[in-house]
Amino acid sequence: MADLVIRNLHAKIVDSDKEILRGIDLEVSRGETHAIMGPNGSGKSTLSHVLMGHPGYEVTDGEVLFHGDDLLTMAPDERSRAGLFLCFQYPYAVPGVTVANFLRTAINAHRGKGDPIRIPEFRTRMEAAMKLLDVDRKMSSRYLNDGFSGGEKKRLEILQLAMLKPSLAVLDETDSGLDIDALKIVAHGVNAHIGDEMGAIVITHYQRILDYITPSHVHVLIEGRIARSGGAELAKELERAGYADIAASVEA
Ligand code: ADP
Ligand code: MG
Repeated sequence: MADLVIRNLHAKIVDSDKEILRGIDLEVSRGETHAIMGPNGSGKSTLSHVLMGHPGYEVTDGEVLFHGDDLLTMAPDERSRAGLFLCFQYPYAVPGVTVANFLRTAINAHRGKGDPIRIPEFRTRMEAAMKLLDVDRKMSSRYLNDGFSGGEKKRLEILQLAMLKPSLAVLDETDSGLDIDALKIVAHGVNAHIGDEMGAIVITHYQRILDYITPSHVHVLIEGRIARSGGAELAKELERAGYADIAASVEA
């Protein structure tokens, strides 16, 4: 069985009748990179939030299995400890909590009670991850995302990925707001982890990031459903033709 199995997933916003996800089927395993593309408002972020357990969304039908377990009954922190990781489209700032403290707390939460990471090991790992992502070491003593530029925030998201080593990473428009150099660094950091130990769902509006992170699968989300799936060539085709043709075929 695939690491992540999504079957007929339907979801809506709590306190609203509007269904946003309208029957998603998707399977993702380690070593695979699935790009999810689609126009604004098609439900891409909703899918990532539902997978992580955002309380603002309600699953109305379908199921999600992660390593064979029912993901939807798990609390967000359990999902994280089970190996799921979400890179936010809009990372939150947490004034008062330093980057180093946040990362150490997250790692210790994954390790469980009575087994905190030793400080020298933590420092070694953090410095290696900072080097991989070309992050200034001084960033570790700044408050989390507080006053960070768009590029710094996204690098920090991937830095968390590098330290938590998830088995499945969901990147929600990690490319938005990045200049080309930052995009290359972020892609390099993600590529360094995709492999036998990790799979990825790369959500993106534009094809650009897929020049640096080559997808094994590409899916087009239109109005809460996967309207088309294919290989890397589908992303190239979309870059030329846009989403209009696929959207029209859905309406027909
Ligand atoms: P995408 O990430 O593909 O741009 P979203 O998943 O963010 O799309 O949004 C899908 C639809 O759901 C949009 O019409 C959006 O306005 C609506 N939506 C998403 N989240 C909320 C929310 N918290 N409250 C109200 N509407 C929302
Ligand atoms: Mg979005």
